[in-house]
Amino acid sequence: MTPDKPQWLELFAEVVTTGLCTGCAACVVACPHDVLGYDDAQGLYRPFHVEADGGPTDCTHGQRGCTMCTRACPRFRTWEPEIDVHRVGRERRDDEVAGVGDVVLARALDPEVAATGQDGGFVSALLIHALAHDLIDAALVSGREGDGTSWRAVPAVVRTRDEVLAAAGSRYTYSANLLAYPEAVAGGAERLALVGMGCAASAPGAMQARKAGKIARRLVLSIGLLCSKTFDDAIFPELFEARYGLARADIAKMNIKGAFRVTTRDGQRHDIPLREAHDFTRTGCVMCPDFAAEHADLSAGGIGALDDWTLVVVRTELGRSLLDALVAAGAVETRPAHEDPRALALLARLARASRTRWPDWADAHPGRTGAPAS
Ligand SMILES: Cc1cc2nc3c(=O)[nH]c(=O)nc-3n(C[C@H](O)[C@H](O)[C@H](O)COP(=O)(O)OP(=O)(O)OC[C@H]3O[C@@H](n4cnc5c(N)ncnc54)[C@H](O)[C@@H]3O)c2cc1C
Ligand code: SF4
Ligand code: SF4
Repeated sequence: MTPDKPQWLELFAEVVTTGLCTGCAACVVACPHDVLGYDDAQGLYRPFHVEADGGPTDCTHGQRGCTMCTRACPRFRTWEPEIDVHRVGRERRDDEVAGVGDVVLARALDPEVAATGQDGGFVSALLIHALAHDLIDAALVSGREGDGTSWRAVPAVVRTRDEVLAAAGSRYTYSANLLAYPEAVAGGAERLALVGMGCAASAPGAMQARKAGKIARRLVLSIGLLCSKTFDDAIFPELFEARYGLARADIAKMNIKGAFRVTTRDGQRHDIPLREAHDFTRTGCVMCPDFAAEHADLSAGGIGALDDWTLVVVRTELGRSLLDALVAAGAVETRPAHEDPRALALLARLARASRTRWPDWADAHPGRTGAPAS
């Protein structure tokens, strides 16, 4: 190891064991020697190093100069300003608490896409458009395990409209969508969109800013999901079922709108106070400073006053050109964000609150920009 060639040794010590690790799996899929595994048992969601090539804390390839895992990691050292500068040409200003970008409200015009999507179906409309117009070969999303009744979110590759729609909607447990990367590449995909919360949506930018090779070039589009936290799978048996009698198999849809809004297959809605869900917060989210998926090309959320619209933050030139193309093609309609001032205020408030999570002992950038949370 040399100080300017940080490898698994440094990643393990500075990110994995300190709690900064979100479990995004960027290091796992970027590792060129396949010596990183991913442990998602019992809510852990952490990378680990195989014993044979340096033990759990060090890497023999890293000792010889490989640095790919630290190049890929969107929580390593000065990740935020590095990715900002790469993506938008400058660091964000202190008042840009939700990252750089313009906000707009959008919804899919295709009734099936609008009805299937979590909010306005914007993300699915975007993926369907990008696939149909040969802008991407495939997308890395979160599918549902089996017939979906377990509500277990699993990384998945989608290549068609039907596959996009089958994966639409939100699951609030974790899905490291990057883990679907090897399957997409094995299927011949060279241009990939990645859908993910801020933790994952920053990975393409980290990899591109630090020149992490082929994977950086293949992740051509990053679609972010606004996110305060994800929950351990234990939330199903221990909260929904034990306290409210809601079995997973009976749940038709879940959304977070001030409360956990659970709709069962019989059409009944059950609002569960968010404070009851806090005990089930996934460990990897506790220090995450990025509510607004700040390094995506487009970030999407459901904090608008109108349930069937997606709040979209347009962050890059690519994001802007895609939104324009979607509107021109009649795939989505938009309305100005100032029509929903409450959503704009909430975006700023939630983004500011998340930034206070970044610990003082870590690199100085996230969490020290923006005014204190109100
Ligand atoms: C864990 C989580 C937490 C969220 N928290 C908030 C929040 O606090 N505030 C807010 O405004 N919005 C939040 N969102 C975003 C919101 O739920 C919608 O995803 C967003 O508004 C886009 O809606 P849509 O109708 O355009 O998306 P859709 O067209 O329904 O597409 C959604 C996409 O998200 C993918 N996806 C679903 N679940 C997961 C998962 N667990 N991990 C990774 N990808 C997934 C799907 O595969 C699909 O591609 C959260 C989303 C998730 C997944
Ligand atoms: S140093 Fe290289 S080989 Fe070792 S874990 Fe990191 S990316 Fe993989
Ligand atoms: S944050 Fe992601 S890339 Fe960084 S160590 Fe954790 S899993 Fe790996």
